[in-house]
Amino acid sequence: MSTITQGYLDDPVFSLVSRVAEQEGVRAFVIGGYVRDCFLGTPSKDIDIVVEGSGIALAEAVAEHIRQVEKHSCHVSVFKNFGTAMLRYHGTEVEFVGARKESYHRDSRKPIVEDGTLEEDQLRRDFTINAMAFSLQREDFGALVDPFGGIRDLAAGIIRTPLDPEVTYSDDPLRMLRAIRFATRLTTPSRTFTIVPESLEAMRKMKDRMSILSKERIVEELNKILLTPHPSMGFRLLDETGLLEYILPDLVRLKGVETVEGRGHKDNFSHTLQVVDHVAEDELRQIDAGTLHNYAPVEGSDGFVEVQRTEPYVWLRWAALLHDIGKPASKRYDPVQGWTFHGHNVLGARMVPKIFQSLKMPLNEKMKYVQKLVELHHRPVSLVDDEVTDSAVRRLLFDAGNEIDDLMLLCNADITSKNPVKVARLKRNFELVREKLAEVEAKDAIRNMKNPITGDYVMKVYGIPPCDKIGVLKEYVKNAILDGRIGNNFEEADRLMRAYAPTLGLQEVASE
Ligand code: ATP
Ligand code: MG
Repeated sequence: MSTITQGYLDDPVFSLVSRVAEQEGVRAFVIGGYVRDCFLGTPSKDIDIVVEGSGIALAEAVAEHIRQVEKHSCHVSVFKNFGTAMLRYHGTEVEFVGARKESYHRDSRKPIVEDGTLEEDQLRRDFTINAMAFSLQREDFGALVDPFGGIRDLAAGIIRTPLDPEVTYSDDPLRMLRAIRFATRLTTPSRTFTIVPESLEAMRKMKDRMSILSKERIVEELNKILLTPHPSMGFRLLDETGLLEYILPDLVRLKGVETVEGRGHKDNFSHTLQVVDHVAEDELRQIDAGTLHNYAPVEGSDGFVEVQRTEPYVWLRWAALLHDIGKPASKRYDPVQGWTFHGHNVLGARMVPKIFQSLKMPLNEKMKYVQKLVELHHRPVSLVDDEVTDSAVRRLLFDAGNEIDDLMLLCNADITSKNPVKVARLKRNFELVREKLAEVEAKDAIRNMKNPITGDYVMKVYGIPPCDKIGVLKEYVKNAILDGRIGNNFEEADRLMRAYAPTLGLQEVASE
């Protein structure tokens, strides 16, 4: 029989599941994201199978068939609590779940689950475009089962819940974030996805239900929104529905333009979202071109190796999102200069740990990375206004260290102005900074610079115990290297140290 889904179920796993389900006397369907993505022309490798019966039992039976008939090993991972089971077949991941009917308690997003039919199962799914199924029954293999018009909504670019949106969102408020995530992710330059107005209205009403979600789940969705090619759309939706106020109130504080004596400033919320989009675009472009790098530590040494980045880095996107977060607190009006935001980078960097903590995000080196980028985000472009000296570039490289590529990307993305002549001039000068960075790094290897003079060495040469003179001496040598007065090597550093030490009252001890 020919169906509209012909070609979508060519993977041998589908006929295998079909045969085994028939033997077991149960009906099985492909459901959810796989079906949606087939119609979007981007079939995924993640397959969800829903069974009218036990998902775990069907997975075990399929695995047994693979072992007995195909003589392959096959491991089934069973998640008893969820009633699901997962197996891998020729590199394809297949998850099995029994069709279920759900009802909810008010204070939890964990439903009371009972066995149900396919249609009852489809009804509990989040959106019509995620509730479509392909039949795996021999008699209508490949037939689309779409009781809520998912295919129509997909063609029209509409996100809609099968049930009353207020009930859907109240039952499980995570779905509000999922709606925004799907709208953002599925929208491309040639196709816009919109959330239907009654659904947006329901989100506004139900936003307080977010309180039953764990911060971890919220952040998981936020990260997925941030990793889309144009995250700004998601953040605008989060803002319009009032969800952003709950999740990241500091970001909402960036909104608005104040005017004094006829002088306004730019809306920092819109600017921030523009920068996040620029970062995403540039990062993807550089990943495609193979020009973006991470630096990974080399085991057993102080060194780092350059690793080409092949995936977007969510922490870079967080840095873009938070780069101006210190602006509201640092905003001043000066009758001569107009609006100023002096020190907003330092203030912003100080806010980063608090924001991470409020969302239960890691307070480890990822947070420090974001903090560093927020603090330094102005440095490369401020060089542009001055004459770009080697010394300034060396200091930038030293302070940014391994984060220099990402800092440059963020800083470049931050050049937004309504004046195209100004943008063009800044970008041109910015390229000069970039060239100079490469030159200085190649010559002086500053990025991972370690002071050639160590504390132990100073103590030995001058026979002194730990004291603050050691720090003074080391700092003097480091600055001389960064200023380019001496090269980044031990011989020159040692010579300078010995020349300067007597001014601190230090005498060399006679070497034996
Ligand atoms: P992705 O490509 O992001 O994995 P997906 O549609 O496969 O998209 P999953 O989170 O893997 O999304 O979920 C699989 C399916 O389970 C969804 O298509 C949807 O039908 C259903 N689903 C997932 N989470 C929920 C939820 N919170 N409420 C209702 N249905 C859900
Ligand atoms: Mg999925």
